[in-house]
Amino acid sequence: MHDDEHTGACLCGSVRFRTRGPLRGVVFCHCGQCRRQSGHFVAATSVSDERIVIEGGDAISWFAASPKAKRGFCSRCGSLLFWKHADLDSISVMAGAFDRPTGLIAECHIFVADKGDYYAIDDGLPQLARSTETIVVVDA
Ligand SMILES: [Zn+2]
Ligand SMILES: [Zn+2]
Repeated sequence: MHDDEHTGACLCGSVRFRTRGPLRGVVFCHCGQCRRQSGHFVAATSVSDERIVIEGGDAISWFAASPKAKRGFCSRCGSLLFWKHADLDSISVMAGAFDRPTGLIAECHIFVADKGDYYAIDDGLPQLARSTETIVVVDA
């Protein structure tokens, strides 16, 4: 496998993916949608559409939590895998789905204003009340 390639899969292995090239830093999203879907909060990188190959796509269920964005998870094992905005030519991929070594680097926390009230964020990374212009996350 090339240095620049990374692979990952859902828990049951029905969905597999392979990425090429650099991956965005990992963004931790504490918004209400991510909290509910993940059971805690979400950690995701992002890759442009042409640099990811997804196998087993028929096993993916897509849930549109907002008009412009949909959330992809494995319909067999429930693993949260993808977040896709209709207007972007990139896709967010859950960091935990990657095989190690992931090569991923933690970057920041977003939507911390909406975080759960039962944990602290104390890792020293930047914390944004909502999102940024470079990290496009659309809350419904
Ligand atoms: Zn699965
Ligand atoms: Zn979120």
